[in-house]
Amino acid sequence: MNENINYDIIIVGGGMVGASLACGLAEGAEQLKIAVIDANAPNFDWDKDSYDMRVSAITRASQNIFKNMGVWENIVEQRVSPYYDMFVWDAGNHDRHGEIQHGEIHFDSADMGEADLGHIIENRIIVKALYQRMQEMPQISLYCPTRLEAIAFNQDKTCLTLQDKTKLTANLIVGADGTRSWVRQQADIAVKGWDFDQAALVTTVKTEKYHQDTAWQRFLSTGPLAFLPLTDGYSSIVWSTSPGEAQRLTEIPEAEFALELEQAFESKLGKIVSVAGRAVFPLRLFETLNYVKPRLALVGDAAHTIHPLAGQGVNLGLADVASLITVIIDALNNKKDIGDFKVLRRYERWRRADNRSMLVAMDGLKRLFGSELSVVKGLRGFGLNMVNKITPLKNLIMQQAMGIGGTGPGSKLK
Ligand SMILES: Cc1cc2nc3c(=O)[nH]c(=O)nc-3n(C[C@H](O)[C@H](O)[C@H](O)COP(=O)(O)OP(=O)(O)OC[C@H]3O[C@@H](n4cnc5c(N)ncnc54)[C@H](O)[C@@H]3O)c2cc1C
Repeated sequence: MNENINYDIIIVGGGMVGASLACGLAEGAEQLKIAVIDANAPNFDWDKDSYDMRVSAITRASQNIFKNMGVWENIVEQRVSPYYDMFVWDAGNHDRHGEIQHGEIHFDSADMGEADLGHIIENRIIVKALYQRMQEMPQISLYCPTRLEAIAFNQDKTCLTLQDKTKLTANLIVGADGTRSWVRQQADIAVKGWDFDQAALVTTVKTEKYHQDTAWQRFLSTGPLAFLPLTDGYSSIVWSTSPGEAQRLTEIPEAEFALELEQAFESKLGKIVSVAGRAVFPLRLFETLNYVKPRLALVGDAAHTIHPLAGQGVNLGLADVASLITVIIDALNNKKDIGDFKVLRRYERWRRADNRSMLVAMDGLKRLFGSELSVVKGLRGFGLNMVNKITPLKNLIMQQAMGIGGTGPGSKLK
C-alpha cells in the first residue's frame, strides 16, 4: 500500500536556491507544510583542508537574505572570504604606435563606504548550512535522495509520483531543479536561449603572491578568467573559454597548466604554486518563456541560467526566492490560493524584468569583450578607463552588482 501525503508546497531541487526557499518559507509562514525533494543527497563529509571547486560570489543582498533565514552565522562559522576590491582589465589592444593599451577598472569597498564588496563562499558550505537549518524546522520534510517518476497538474492540486510509487500532492510545486530542470520539461515550458559556445574550467590554486583579498578578472578574447580570493592565500579559478580549449586545459600536465594559467593572468599574482583538481562545466544562457503556470513556479537556474562572468547566477536565484516568499506570504495573509495563476503572475512580473536585464547585460559583455575588431577593442579599453575615473558612476555600477542599488527583494522575509 503506497502512501498519499499532502503538503502546501513541494520544492523539487534542494540546491542553494531550493533549500533557501524552504528555509525562508518555514521562517516566514510557520503554518506551511513543505516538502523538499532532491535526486541527490549532499555530501557533508569533506577534508577540512580542501576547498570546494565550486564557489559563489555572494552579494550583500544575498547575505541579507541568508541572515533573514537564520543561516548566515553558520556559513560564516564554517568559512567565508570577504573581498574588498575588484580589479577588471582586458587583454589590451595595439595603438597607432604599436604599444599595447589596456582598459582597466578598479572597485574599492572603502571608496563606497562599504565594509566589503561581497564574500566568496564554497557552494558546499552554503548547502550544508541550509540543510542544517531545514533539519531544525519541523514543518519541512526532506526527501533525498529521491527520484521522481511523474507529475500531474490538476485544477486544485499538483500530484507528484515518486519512484517508489508514493504520491505527494500540493497546492504549489516549485521547480528549483537547476538548469536542466525536469519540472520545467514536464510542465512543457520552453526556454529562449542565446548561442553560447563556452565552458568554464574551475580549479583552486595557490599563488606566489597574496591575492590581497581582491577579486581579479581578466577579459581575454576567448572569455573571462577570474581569480577569486579564498582563505590562506588560495584562489578559486573560473576560466571561461571554448569547450574544446577547456577540455584541453584539464588534460595537460599540472605544471604545463600552471604556466598557461600564469601567462593568461599576466603573472599578476606571481607563479602558480599549486593546483588542485580541474573540472569543466558547460555554460548556458537562457530564460524560460514563463516562470509560472497554475500551481507551478520556477526559481533559480531552472528559470534562467547566465554566464558566471559577473558572479550573479545564484544571487538572481536568491532574489527569486525572496520575491516568491513575499508573494506567497501576501497571498496567505489575504486568504488567497497560493497556487493560483494570478497570485503567481505577480512573482513572474517582478522577477522577469530584473533577470532579463542581467541576461542581456551578460550577453552584451561577452560579445563586447569577445570582439577581435580593433575599433571595438579600442573603444572598450577607452570606456573601461573612462568609467574608472568617474567615481559616482563606478559606485553606481558596483551598487547594482552588490544588489543594493534599489528596492530589491528580501526585505519582507520575516
Ligand atoms: C563555473 C561556475 C561559476 C559560478 N559562479 C557563480 C558566482 O560566483 N556567483 C553566483 O551567483 N553564481 C555563480 N554561478 C551560478 C550558480 O552556480 C548557479 O546559478 C546556482 O548553482 C543555481 O542554483 P540552483 O539551486 O538554482 O540550481 P543547482 O545548484 O543546479 O541545484 C539544483 C538541485 O536540483 C537537484 N535536481 C536536479 N534534477 C532533479 C530532479 N529531477 N529531481 C530532484 N532533484 C533534482 C540537484 O541535485 C540539485 O541539488 C556559477 C556557475 C558556474 C557554472
